[in-house]
Amino acid sequence: MTVELDNTDVAIVKSLMQDGRKSFRAISRELKISTPTIKARYDRLVNIGLIKSIRPEIDISKISTKDKKKLPNELVDYIKNQKKNLRINLDNIKIKLECEFCEGPIHEKPTVLKFADIERFFCCTSCKNDYKEKYGGRIQSLIEQYEENKKIKKA
Ligand SMILES: [Zn+2]
Repeated sequence: MTVELDNTDVAIVKSLMQDGRKSFRAISRELKISTPTIKARYDRLVNIGLIKSIRPEIDISKISTKDKKKLPNELVDYIKNQKKNLRINLDNIKIKLECEFCEGPIHEKPTVLKFADIERFFCCTSCKNDYKEKYGGRIQSLIEQYEENKKIKKA
């Protein structure tokens, strides 16, 4: 079975990747999508088997060296492998893209707008241009922010 995900599904997964304990209400505020919708989408993502589990990230530095030796092997193995604390099953996943401007489906190849480290997908060139016009100020400030961060990293 192939499962189709849309922009909302992907946004929810991305949000949970930052903090798996986040409440539906927090995700709702972040994505500006209603809480019941977030809950329904989340339940669906679990039901279709995309989200396998959300597990704690453990900070080993909080445990003294002496106590580390007392940890059960299971826990030591878990801590070593905990990069994947949000387990996602990528088999059979198809992403259904929606146009960032008109929210219509993108059938063939999307028209892509790239700025800073961001990519936005559109159904056609006119949606892309309208988006650029409408959000020009925001795009500009994101670019400036991105350049600024790059400078800070280099310094
Ligand atoms: Zn469009």
